[in-house]
Amino acid sequence: MTTMARARPPSVDRILGILAAEQVEVSERDALVALVRDVLEEERQRLAAGAPPTPDGELADAVTDRLDRLDDPELTIPPHVINATGVILHTNLGRSPWPRAARLAAVAAARSYGYLEFDPESGRRGQRFRAGEDHLVAMTGAEDALVVTNNAAALALAVGLAGRRGAVVVSRGELVEIGGGVRIPDVLARAGVRLIEVGTTNRTRAADFEAPLAAGAARVVLRVHPSNFAIRGFTESADLAEVAAIAHEHGAIVVDDLGSGALLDTALFGLAHEPTPSERLAQGADLVLFSGDKLVGGPQAGLVVGRADLVERLRRDPLARAVRPDKAILAAVAATLAVYRAGRAALDIPIWQLIAREPAQLRARAEWIVGTAAGATGRSDIDIVDLESPVGGGSLPGQVLPSVGVAVPFASAARAAATLRSGPDRILARIIDDAIVFDLRTVAPFDDGTIVRRIGELAAPRR
Ligand SMILES: *Cc1c(COP(=O)(O)O)cnc(C)c1O
Repeated sequence: MTTMARARPPSVDRILGILAAEQVEVSERDALVALVRDVLEEERQRLAAGAPPTPDGELADAVTDRLDRLDDPELTIPPHVINATGVILHTNLGRSPWPRAARLAAVAAARSYGYLEFDPESGRRGQRFRAGEDHLVAMTGAEDALVVTNNAAALALAVGLAGRRGAVVVSRGELVEIGGGVRIPDVLARAGVRLIEVGTTNRTRAADFEAPLAAGAARVVLRVHPSNFAIRGFTESADLAEVAAIAHEHGAIVVDDLGSGALLDTALFGLAHEPTPSERLAQGADLVLFSGDKLVGGPQAGLVVGRADLVERLRRDPLARAVRPDKAILAAVAATLAVYRAGRAALDIPIWQLIAREPAQLRARAEWIVGTAAGATGRSDIDIVDLESPVGGGSLPGQVLPSVGVAVPFASAARAAATLRSGPDRILARIIDDAIVFDLRTVAPFDDGTIVRRIGELAAPRR
C-alpha cells in the first residue's frame, strides 16, 4: 500500500467470516453484526485521523473481547467498593446492604415461576403476593399496608388522595428537599395537587392548620419528617395528635411521610429516638410512609401503613401499577420484615450490626491496621483517630455514632483518595485535613487486610 492510498476498514462480512472460522457462535446474528459495526466504525475514525490500518484478525479479536465483556460481572454489577466513610446509609453507595434472608429470598423468587398474583384455589388471577404487607400490619397495628418501589413513589401516590386539583396543607417548616433535587412542592405540583402552606419556617402550631381545613380548602394534611436536617433555636412544630384531631374534625386525613421510619427503637443504640410507624398511627396519622432501605435496612421500597380504605384507594390508583415492585423485591422485603417479626433484627439486619459496633472493637482493629501498615511502610505517622459518623441516608440528622479510624497523611490526600477509589480493591475513604481516614465502622473486619495492602501500595517505604 502506498502512503497516499486512502485506507478503508474491511467489510462487515469479512470480519464475520473470520469470527465464523474461529467458531464464535451466537444465536442472534443481528447482535453480533452490531458489535462488528461498532468496531469497524471506530477503525474508520482511526484511519480518518491518519492511523495505520489494524489487521483484520485484530479487529475480529476486538469484537470477541467486547462479547466477553458483556458478561463480565465487573461491568454488569455496580462495582464493589469498601465503604470506609463510616456513613452506614450512603445513598450513593446503594444505602443498605441486604440481610442474608432477603438475598436468598430474592434469588429464589427470581429463579422460577411463583404464585405472585394467582389464586391456586380458584385457578384464577388472585391478590398480589402480600407477605411483606401482612408483616407490616402485624408489627405496626395498621389496618392495611402497601409496598411500592420507594418512598418517593409512596409520597406521590399518597398526595393523590387530595384528588385532581385538590389541595394538600403543609407546614412551611416541612417544605423540604428530600435529596437529589427532589422537593416536596415539586412532588405536589407533579401530582397535580395544590399546596396550601401554613405556619413559618421555624414555627408552626396545630392551630395554623385550622383555617384551611375548616374552610374545606384541603382534604389532606401532609407531614414531612425532618429526616435530613434539624432546625434549632426558636422553633415549634405542631403536635401530630393535635393536627390529626383538627383534620379529622373537618373530614380531612393526615399523611405522615416518616422518611427513614425505624422498626426498632434507635434509643437502644445510643441514638435519639426516631419515631416509629406504630407511634405515628397511634397519634392519629391516617397513613404513614417510610423507606425500605433506610432504617429498615432492607431493599429499596416504599412502605405504606394505615387506614384500610385509604390503602385500598392507593392500591386501585392507576399510578400504583407504575410503582409496583418486582417479585424479587417483594420477596426480599417480606424476608427483611420477617427478621423483625422474629425478633432478630439487631442480630441479622446488617445496618443494625454496623450501628451496634462498639468503638472498643473498632479501636482494636485500628491498632492492628496501624501496626501492620507501619511495619510494611516504615512510616511512623499512621495514626488512630476518634471519629463521629452520621448514620446517613436522610436519617437521624445531627446524630452521630462515635467511631474509630486510621489516618494516613499524604502530600496530596485528594490524589491518594482518587487512587484508592479505583483498582480491583476499591476503597472509598474520608479526607480530613491532609490525611486519608479509614472509618472502620462500615468496613467488614475481613477487609482490614485489604486496607493495609492498599496503604502499603500508596505509602511506599521512605528510603
Ligand atoms: C428519603 C426520604 C424520602 C424518599 O424516600 P426514597 O425511599 O429514597 O424514595 C421521602 N421523604 C423523606 C422525608 C425522606 O427522608
